Amino acid sequence: MKNFSAEVSNLFSPVRYAKGVGEKRAILLKKLGIKTIFDLFWHLPLYYEDRSRITPIRRVLSGKRYVVRGKILLINCRKVRSNLSITKAVIKDETGIIYAIWYNQDYVARLLKRGEEVILSGKVEWNFEKQIKVEDFELLTGKEDSLFLNRIVPFYPLTEGLSQRLMRQIIKRNLEEKSIYLQDSLPREIKERYSFIPFREAICNIHFPENFSLQKEARRRLVFEELFLLQVSLALKRKKCKEERGISFKTDKKLIEEFIRLFPFSLTLSQKRVIKEVLDDMSEFRPMNRLLQGDVGSGKTIVAALCLLTAVVNDYQGALMAPTEILAQQHWITLKELLSPLNIRLALLVSEIPQKEKKRIVEGVKRGDISLVVGTHALIQEEVEFNRLGMVVIDEQHRFGVMQRLKLRHKGRSPDVLVMTATPIPRTLALTSYGDLDISVISELPPGRKPVITRWEREERREYVYQFVKERLKEGRQVYFVYPLIEESEEMDLKSAQEMAENLQKKVFTHYKVRLLHGRMRKEEKEEIINSFRKKNIDILVCTTVIEVGIDISNATVMVIENAERFGLAQLHQLRGRVGRGAEQSYCFLLTGKNISVEAVRRMKIMQRTSDGFRIAEEDLKLRGPGEFFGTRQWGMFNLKIADLIKDRETLFLARREAFKLVEKDSLLNQYPRLKERIRQRYSSRLDLSGVG
Ligand code: ADP
Ligand code: MG
Repeated sequence: MKNFSAEVSNLFSPVRYAKGVGEKRAILLKKLGIKTIFDLFWHLPLYYEDRSRITPIRRVLSGKRYVVRGKILLINCRKVRSNLSITKAVIKDETGIIYAIWYNQDYVARLLKRGEEVILSGKVEWNFEKQIKVEDFELLTGKEDSLFLNRIVPFYPLTEGLSQRLMRQIIKRNLEEKSIYLQDSLPREIKERYSFIPFREAICNIHFPENFSLQKEARRRLVFEELFLLQVSLALKRKKCKEERGISFKTDKKLIEEFIRLFPFSLTLSQKRVIKEVLDDMSEFRPMNRLLQGDVGSGKTIVAALCLLTAVVNDYQGALMAPTEILAQQHWITLKELLSPLNIRLALLVSEIPQKEKKRIVEGVKRGDISLVVGTHALIQEEVEFNRLGMVVIDEQHRFGVMQRLKLRHKGRSPDVLVMTATPIPRTLALTSYGDLDISVISELPPGRKPVITRWEREERREYVYQFVKERLKEGRQVYFVYPLIEESEEMDLKSAQEMAENLQKKVFTHYKVRLLHGRMRKEEKEEIINSFRKKNIDILVCTTVIEVGIDISNATVMVIENAERFGLAQLHQLRGRVGRGAEQSYCFLLTGKNISVEAVRRMKIMQRTSDGFRIAEEDLKLRGPGEFFGTRQWGMFNLKIADLIKDRETLFLARREAFKLVEKDSLLNQYPRLKERIRQRYSSRLDLSGVG
């Protein structure tokens, strides 16, 4: 395999040895995530500009985008107001002149000089003169090669100290020199089936395409490549998990039936199905690795309780980790109610408890006296050791990184893991970010739940909203007012929440009890407030988003979300999930200011229209993209470079099918050494694939 090792040494050597790079530039490239020459080739253009079509100045029309080229006759920069400066240049070609305009970019006037030649692109407008509002420009020095002219030109993500021009040159020169080492890692049969062009051609054409149809073919090939590699690695991970020795729990059918009979309700069909899936999986000898999806209020906690119970009766310990203290607390209360009658010892471990108590719990967990521990991140701290951890439940997982999930898992010997999420994850994302997990879905809410009636109201209708709230209060219902807290201005927002609570108490709901609840309060104080709300000693709870997860009080049937435009869809959906938890009709008001963005309007309308968490999640993904959807921490793990989970969804399904088929056939990838090498390079550290292949 001679040319295989040539490929590795040529493409995977540090980028510092690439043509035109060196020490200093290598540091800059590293900021863009480029460490090897191969990474450099995968540094893909964000967009292109077609400079094969430079328009003569005389022919430009108002209102359209153009690329023009000409000589600078004059350039100056003028301060118009304290916050506005305009740089203006007169540009001439053989056919006429045009005025180039830059706003607030004073450096342009220092960079460009009279007599120099430039290429400009932007929108043209004719006011009393012909103007082009420059979006992008390039200085021509006279010795440029064809990289900048008369062709489709790529534009790359950059970092300070690297220009487009330089990036293009570096990539072009290295492609010329090293692209011959780019070999296909896709299995031949797949390449043939989908008529993909060779990898090398795809990489060259994605950077410097001769026309857009070649670029499209290149993109199609690379999107598949990227998704396929990811899916193969996920398939391997999954396979590895399935071959691992775990714990085979015995499920005590009679006990479980009795346990279920204690509930004041009967299980939904979905719950029954999922419980069966999960318990079957637990009884298998391999470790369970399962994602449980179910909308807010669909009754996931009971599934978790059954898993934990099963672990305990098998003489193992269980752990439940939640992202916030309030949520951990809530779970603890629920589990205590459900499980202490069975003489199971539970503990709550959060960072805010007194040192002495903490020590006692940590010791109890280590000795095995405590069978179940519920907690926050505190659970994954080093000092926490388990005697026989057999079952791990992680709630609201997408707030934890994958590494945190692994950390808790590693506190036992291949325990079963159930990850629960109440933010439905669009299928495309689930298949990428959780592609190594089995998935169970609770697809229905308990019967009798009426969808929450949601209304978007503008500020001027505040009085009406108050009136509505008063009527519900009269009927004995309770109410949430939610205020957003935004990190940068947390102090200020907190203050406004405080003022609002005061105002509501003194001026609006004088006959009712209003209390404030926020994340900065001490634990005892929070507990006290939530408990009195639960006991109906408080009518109105004014809170910051601390209630987003975890509070379960069915008599609270109205929620008013202030400045709703500041929240994302997923968060709004989670918040709204706090009402509508009983048989009573519930309401959610989204109060916004007058001038909110088009996107915010869209969010409000989506919320009004649907309460289906999956639909909301899909919309959310469209509006925000995967990075925002998950928070970059988690998403960064997979960092797709070219595939777009919305546009390329069909390709994703295809790549997944092919990948899983392949791994099924040849789980060591013995027939595909190059594929194996690529996966090792890109995914092994991120997915903990050690030992695979
Ligand atoms: P999730 O965690 O999925 O948001 P929970 O497990 O907290 O939902 O359940 C929400 C509420 O619904 C709880 O008060 C729970 O007791 C109740 N519940 C769960 N399952 C059922 C059911 N089958 N029928 C009626 N109520 C249920
Ligand atoms: Mg829950």
